[in-house]
Amino acid sequence: MIIDSHNHPNYLGYTTDKILADMAQNNIDRTWLLTLETPDHEYSPAYYRITRGNEDGPIPFTSCLASFQQAPDKFVLGYAPDPRHPHAIDKLEAAIELYNVRVCGEIMLRMMYDNWDAVRLFQFCGKKGLPVIVEVNYGAGSDGRFPNRPGYWYGGGIEAYERAIRECPETNFLGHGPGFWSHISADEGYKSSDYPRGEVAPGGKVVQMMREYPNLYCDLSAFSGLNALKRDVEFTKEFLLEFQDRILYGRDQYDNHLQEFLNALELPQDVLDKIYAGNSLRLVP
Ligand SMILES: [Zn+2]
Repeated sequence: MIIDSHNHPNYLGYTTDKILADMAQNNIDRTWLLTLETPDHEYSPAYYRITRGNEDGPIPFTSCLASFQQAPDKFVLGYAPDPRHPHAIDKLEAAIELYNVRVCGEIMLRMMYDNWDAVRLFQFCGKKGLPVIVEVNYGAGSDGRFPNRPGYWYGGGIEAYERAIRECPETNFLGHGPGFWSHISADEGYKSSDYPRGEVAPGGKVVQMMREYPNLYCDLSAFSGLNALKRDVEFTKEFLLEFQDRILYGRDQYDNHLQEFLNALELPQDVLDKIYAGNSLRLVP
């Protein structure tokens, strides 16, 4: 069984029908559909081309809900309201009760992730059994588009994320995005690139945090995840073995590159099974 624990509807041209066809082609049994209710002034204008958003952001809850209702056995419903909205917890609670939301994701906001309102929302998610997916991004790879400032940062760095994880021990967090995965290595590549390359220096913050916080999981999705895994394959095998109970397969796009990579690693079958579905099913039974 394979569960894609990170994807979005009406994203990159993928309507519900196209997602279902793509899942069948790549042997994916179920997909977590996540919102992206980032306010208009907090995301790159490039999103206008790759989503069909509305005033609730690039991928509003209504979009996830419509796809979920079309094939409820194929999807897990996610929803992450902006915690700075004064009704955020009430909106999430209503969506859990009315529509069976199981995941709080994706949070991609220009605030420190230990913002008090965010911590309250995350603690609420812990009480309700919803794992939380956030994007951490330093905006380091702005490719010179903004000469007077860096690109779009989200979350305020790995330390702010760590403080949120520490303050919410009952909440399971999935680490995701360039600003998380760059810290697989102890070097400072995160300061100059969203996708640093080169051999992994031991003692990276991701490894430290995975050892310290049992409520932290790894979301392998997106180019940031695959890039980190490809930096140093021998390291990657040890990493996946050590944390085999808290690593989840996901895509955040519609291709099969991560499956091809994972299948070529010659991991024990039981470890692969956990990464592909077992850990996801433990978080969202
Ligand atoms: Zn995403």
